[in-house]
Amino acid sequence: MSTNDNNKFQAIIAHAKEYGFVFPSSEIYDGLSAVYDYGPWGSELKKNIRDYWWKSMTQMHENIVGVDAAIFMHPTTWKASGHVDNFSDPMIDNKDSKKRYRVDHLIEAHAETLPEQESAALLSEMEKLLAEEDFAAVKKLIEDHKIKCSISGTANWTDVRQFNLMFKTEFGAVASDNQEDNIVYLRPETAQGIFVNFLNVQKTARMKVPFGIAQTGKAFRNEIVARQFIFRMREFEQMEMQFFCRPGTQKEWFEYWKNARKQWHLSLGIPEEKYRWHPHAKPAFYADNAGDIEYEFPIGFKEVEGIHSRTDYDLTQHQTYSKKKLQYFDNDIDEATGKPYGNYVPYVIETSIGLDRMFLLILSQAYDEETLAKEDGSSETRTVLRIPPKLAPIKLAILPLTKKDGLPEIARNIMNNCRDEFYCFYEEKDAIGKRYRRMDAIGTPFCITVDHQTKEDNTVTIRYRDTMTQERLPIAAIKELVKDKIK
Ligand code: ATP
Repeated sequence: MSTNDNNKFQAIIAHAKEYGFVFPSSEIYDGLSAVYDYGPWGSELKKNIRDYWWKSMTQMHENIVGVDAAIFMHPTTWKASGHVDNFSDPMIDNKDSKKRYRVDHLIEAHAETLPEQESAALLSEMEKLLAEEDFAAVKKLIEDHKIKCSISGTANWTDVRQFNLMFKTEFGAVASDNQEDNIVYLRPETAQGIFVNFLNVQKTARMKVPFGIAQTGKAFRNEIVARQFIFRMREFEQMEMQFFCRPGTQKEWFEYWKNARKQWHLSLGIPEEKYRWHPHAKPAFYADNAGDIEYEFPIGFKEVEGIHSRTDYDLTQHQTYSKKKLQYFDNDIDEATGKPYGNYVPYVIETSIGLDRMFLLILSQAYDEETLAKEDGSSETRTVLRIPPKLAPIKLAILPLTKKDGLPEIARNIMNNCRDEFYCFYEEKDAIGKRYRRMDAIGTPFCITVDHQTKEDNTVTIRYRDTMTQERLPIAAIKELVKDKIK
């Protein structure tokens, strides 16, 4: 990571706060680590990303429907899914600073300081030991490399232990002798709310395999090392889709969704070279294939979305634990046998993207500090968010040149005519140049200015955010132009 990129990352964080996108949670109490609130323009942008995903999944696919499952689920759900036993990260504490590290992060940070070959050897040794769950050997690896705590500067480490990432809370007011009876978890992923509803959805929406169920919603993980702004949060939002298919067809569907999801990202106009595909050498225990779509954030290439071939693991587990059948009767004819495929537990391809991470991706891609030459030979910097118009919080700013001569009334009329179609913003304070810059900083793609000529010929000036070019346009054409650009 170059210093420059880190500067850009810090600039984005500061900009997000200053312009009402993202605030630290409960900031007046000094914040809560890895929890964030979205401000006026952040909540609009987040909603627009969610809507764009939701529409592309449900409205654009006849065989995908949505659900909105509760965050709380029966605790057995998490036993069946494997989260109670397996959803943990190995961690280690420094005895002097009391700081806790995820061991993979600690070793990876050290590896970054080594020459390429040594770094690769260390990482591959680490991956091997973690896969074998040989934690004593992982500790030895840390000691052998003399890896130190960044705070205390010492190598005085505890043993490596597993740390479950699920948040627990108590459910209901009934006191029980056995406290375990009342424990519920905050869901660490939205997927399980889809699996337990598999038959409800299949029957009520009359779906035929292959079909998908989409869901967006909050998920919670007690991440050990939560830093890097909204990249890794303890409370975040996921957009997940589980696609149920006939056993044996999962490879084909995996490829289909891998490609479809890549196209979704590219449809936002983000250059292909900013993405790369990272196949998992060793997928999670329940998967037969998996990989990540990575994006080049200012902090390097990192996962934004996972595509997982989850086999029939989840449905089979829920079947076993609930003792309820979660099967599908397929009356299509199997050409090999000449008979219907019959009853089976479908296989599942999952696409899982973090909404907050996608938000950070959009900000990272959009943020630009542009140097502009001024007439007197000096230069100035324009900070602009080049957010794709369809995702921009505000689509159109309507600005009367002055507060008098009836210009505000005309501007208000335009606003009233357009606001039912897209988000408009009216502003009459400050010089026009200043107002343009404020709109640039929050990513508004179009500004129109109502001036004295408007009164004569019913035209306004439209100014384009990205090029700063301006042209005159009849008032009657505004709505269609903006609608067309945000389609
Ligand atoms: P990571 O390796 O970064 O911890 P993961 O592989 O555990 O992520 P998944 O369980 O596959 O992630 O979750 C799917 C998506 O949810 C991720 O691609 C990411 O976009 C998002 N996500 C996961 N954990 C977090 C988090 N703590 N904060 C924000 N987004 C997250």
